[in-house]
Amino acid sequence: MSGDVKKTFALKGIGVSPGVEIGKAYLYNRLDAHIPFYKLVDKSLVSEEIARFMAAVEASETQLREIKKKLSSLKELEPQYIIDVHIMILKDKEFIDNTLENIKEMGINAEWALKMTIDRYREIFERIEDAYLKGRISDIQYIGERIIANLTGKRRQTISDMGSGIIIVATDLSPADTAQMKFDKVLGFATDIGGKTSHTAIVSRAIETPAVMGLKNITQLVRTNDDMIIDGSSGLVIVNPDPEMVKRYEDKKKHYQEIKKEFLSDAHLPAMTKDGYKVEIGGNIEFIEEIPSAVSHGAEGIGLYRTEFIYINREQLPTEEDHFSSYKRVVGINGLTWSTIRTFDLGGDKFSSDPKAIKEMNPQMGLRAIRFCLKEIELFKLQLRAIIRASVYGKTRVLFPMISGIEEIREAKRIFEQLKNELIIQGVPIGNDIELGVMVEVPSAVIIADKLAKEVDFFSIGTNDLIQYLMAIDRGNERVTYLYEPLHPAVLRFIKRVVDVGHNAGIRVAMCGEMAGEPAYTMVLLGLELDELSMNPLAIPRVKKIIRETSLQESKYLLKQVLKLESTAEIRELVGNVMREKFPEVFPINAQ
Ligand code: PEP
Ligand code: MG
Repeated sequence: MSGDVKKTFALKGIGVSPGVEIGKAYLYNRLDAHIPFYKLVDKSLVSEEIARFMAAVEASETQLREIKKKLSSLKELEPQYIIDVHIMILKDKEFIDNTLENIKEMGINAEWALKMTIDRYREIFERIEDAYLKGRISDIQYIGERIIANLTGKRRQTISDMGSGIIIVATDLSPADTAQMKFDKVLGFATDIGGKTSHTAIVSRAIETPAVMGLKNITQLVRTNDDMIIDGSSGLVIVNPDPEMVKRYEDKKKHYQEIKKEFLSDAHLPAMTKDGYKVEIGGNIEFIEEIPSAVSHGAEGIGLYRTEFIYINREQLPTEEDHFSSYKRVVGINGLTWSTIRTFDLGGDKFSSDPKAIKEMNPQMGLRAIRFCLKEIELFKLQLRAIIRASVYGKTRVLFPMISGIEEIREAKRIFEQLKNELIIQGVPIGNDIELGVMVEVPSAVIIADKLAKEVDFFSIGTNDLIQYLMAIDRGNERVTYLYEPLHPAVLRFIKRVVDVGHNAGIRVAMCGEMAGEPAYTMVLLGLELDELSMNPLAIPRVKKIIRETSLQESKYLLKQVLKLESTAEIRELVGNVMREKFPEVFPINAQ
């Protein structure tokens, strides 16, 4: 390494795709943001400008199709689907018509007319509360940039220009750029903006390339050819590391690769403890494109399909057939034993296309999830009908989110039964063992869990919301994340109550919040005797390994000790020590 006079520094961002790599930084400049503006001097130039715009759209589509063709050799399908979404945006009638209107009505050049269309979309997206949906404006932006590059004749930088052994440093990357980089042996990605749910993050996980996002200003601090370490597991980037650090990270990389190989090779073994306690392991998905990753990482079923993601990237609300085709795919996957479809958890404010949408001050506690469904009954019915129809293709569980009282679950069940009977009368084939479940994520549901248990076949504990409402901390507010504590004694007592009450009533109890996929909590959750843990697919191999290498008896013993402690700090220390001691390969001492 040549960095003897260069300053060493580390940057902390969000690790969105795990793994360690050591290489050279490469500053990847996306298209120069300067967009030309001029008025068309003559009305007769309008048709010429329109033709120029349409030619650029066509060229962009050809380029995207070429990238997609290249990607077809990947076993993961997500990158290809994302390119499909981009092609859809590119061909979207409103997107095109809006730009053409700007050219015609204002007599301006195509580049500026397109920029105005994108600005208009940006305004709409900015009003969306949900961070994920809000972030989808980047897809429209990528498409806009591609068309503008074709209009101005600027060649987009291709990665083969860059050489090998490089870590891409960029403000932001489009999923198409990211996917193509797979073929150029790029080692990792470090970007100023972006988070775990961005499409680029999804693609980087799918192509198994380490990525750290949300580094704020890395593009201003790093130069091309700087030596760089990227650790996508801890979200750390080290620039111009000293030789000792490089050695440490080389060890960490080797260690990580060995573990990954070992974890993955065992990923399909059942999650059974040494004393024969079997836990069902589910994968949480937001898109059907994530199913292959869930299967390859050892999911036995889908424990949580967040169906609200069906509503993204759409001008129109999804039809029953749109819902049905997604559910049919999830339910019918070979190799998965069951699929839990959660009815959509959306608030009224999330329908940007709905003129009636009311912006709420605090949508997390507002007209959301089941409350919204029971108000917008036709939307709810349309989704439920699609789920019931899909149930003929495999074991289906329906999960109702944000249940806070008995009336809500009874009403949801009533609507469900009515639709089921209607479909039977119409002779539509349906599965005969659809299970219904309550998502336990509002404290009142914990308190009345004994009553709710009589209504359903299973519970699924949503710790993300449950902790938020129990501890009165906004899960999206980084200033109170230090209080977001799954090992808080109140959280553990709540979970224990739900499991005990559920088991007394003879129903299964699952957990699908993030807590379920954190290996540090696995023994505690085993001690609590959850029947199913459902998590982000990448987390599955480690959690399964811990389950296989421990026993129910010792987990129950640990839980007993934990429940005697009074403070979170004491619990954290005890659990941390036990886990590090028992599983040094899962919890290596951080190389940092
Ligand atoms: C939860 O609240 O724990 C959960 C799994 O649902 P979501 O994160 O979608 O709110
Ligand atoms: Mg929730």
